[in-house]
Amino acid sequence: MRLYTFIITDMSAKSARFTNENNFHTFCEHIPLRKIALCSKYFGCILFLCHVSTYTQKRGNVIKKLFIDMDNTLVNTLPVLNAESQNVQKYNVKKPDQIPGIFRHLKPLPGAIDGVKELAKHFDLYILSTAPWENPSSWQDKIEWLTDYFGNDVDSPFYKKVVMTHKKDLVKMPNSLLLDDRPYHGASDWDDAKIDSFWLQYGYDDQLVWTEKLVPFLISIANANEGTLRKDIALANKTNQYQLRHATTEFKKESWE
Ligand SMILES: [Mg+2]
Repeated sequence: MRLYTFIITDMSAKSARFTNENNFHTFCEHIPLRKIALCSKYFGCILFLCHVSTYTQKRGNVIKKLFIDMDNTLVNTLPVLNAESQNVQKYNVKKPDQIPGIFRHLKPLPGAIDGVKELAKHFDLYILSTAPWENPSSWQDKIEWLTDYFGNDVDSPFYKKVVMTHKKDLVKMPNSLLLDDRPYHGASDWDDAKIDSFWLQYGYDDQLVWTEKLVPFLISIANANEGTLRKDIALANKTNQYQLRHATTEFKKESWE
């Protein structure tokens, strides 16, 4: 059994400790947003802004957890990074994802906001995102982006339910899916039959996007009750046979985090 304990001791008045052992306890509820950048700079391997209980009950069944990536899954990041790739010298950075503030005012992907709000009726939702290591402002920008579109109270499906890390595999847990456009930072490791977690690659099948069949497909998985997540996915995919993910080794890596 692996137990990860991270202790943050040098963050002004509050110290916080959090653990990962298929459940997570405490963290950050009292840490001001402005401390997030400092945290990412000095301790930034992984941040949990959430409390994840292992099981939540819904209609007598165990509700599944759905972790959602941000960039190019929820947020339309790629066109902006491409457009700014010629301007990195102006900002004295090496890559466009290192430009301060670039993640703050991005547009959501078409249909993403309404899609998330619909999925929140069927899943226990979390954000699982990577913020560029060399861009501390991006850690704060991502939180503020979420509050822009979903609010900053308990009505938001992501209120205090955000995980930012370069090691997404640390978060995988039973009966849980990760929706992520790329295999990097441990995303593909979510495809784990032993744990019964699953990586669904956003947009690999052109029908599995917000404006097409993604939401009804995920809802059909949420409502299936075949005994394991894999059986639930197989049942939901029986008719349409969507392509759920690319072969990891064939994926072309982009130059940003
Ligand atoms: Mg992404």
